[in-house]
Amino acid sequence: MEPGSDLELKQKQFNAAMELYTGRKRYILFGRFVAAANISLQVFLLYRSSGFSLGPARRLYALAAAYLLADFVNGLVHLHADHMDNYESPGGPLVANFHLHHKRPKYKDNSLPVVYFNESASKVWLVPCLCAVAWLSGRPGVNPFLLCTLVYAGLLSSAAEVSHYLAHNSASPAAAFLARAGLLLGKKRHARHHLEDNVSYTFLNAFTDPLVDLLAAKFYPGYKNGTDLHFAKYTAPGGDRDNSPA
Ligand SMILES: [Zn+2]
Ligand SMILES: [Zn+2]
Repeated sequence: MEPGSDLELKQKQFNAAMELYTGRKRYILFGRFVAAANISLQVFLLYRSSGFSLGPARRLYALAAAYLLADFVNGLVHLHADHMDNYESPGGPLVANFHLHHKRPKYKDNSLPVVYFNESASKVWLVPCLCAVAWLSGRPGVNPFLLCTLVYAGLLSSAAEVSHYLAHNSASPAAAFLARAGLLLGKKRHARHHLEDNVSYTFLNAFTDPLVDLLAAKFYPGYKNGTDLHFAKYTAPGGDRDNSPA
């Protein structure tokens, strides 16, 4: 728990950051640019991966490996981002808006491609990662299984946001079936992240949740008595904007 004056200062900084976020179009435009960059790179890499010399069975193994990798990496980014509190940095308004996902039980209903685009907007870190994979895919002698895994993990990182959205919004039997099959995020597992402290950061299918929980318990203090208190005095003008876990 932060001392009173430190907490008040953080709350003021949080509100000022949100005022910037909601008052300036540049953050929305920046998000659209990030989403467009992520999706263009994903399409390019998917096209590129069709030329990798890899049979269907090994592609399936690569997909399974990519599922674990994307679940773990996105969970780690989420864990770290939930603890960021430098609201006065250039990215501070994005961080402040991001923290509001903890008090959101339901998202605005949208079609899944729109969710995929909108939620890819918050994945700033994914752009350099996809650029690196694109660069690697042009190098001679790189293992095609590794490349394929990285390409699929890049796509699944955006798909994880859709999985998170479905865990909040969907009552469809198909989504429930896919969650039971271990392909999407289960509602019960994800509810822990919102109700408890410092747990369940992963959001593709939560297979790597126990591992990220261990790292969280060892290296991070949690959000309930930290960053969650920073938005305690914030009221959104006309409702919060959508934001994703990472
Ligand atoms: Zn969170
Ligand atoms: Zn959530």
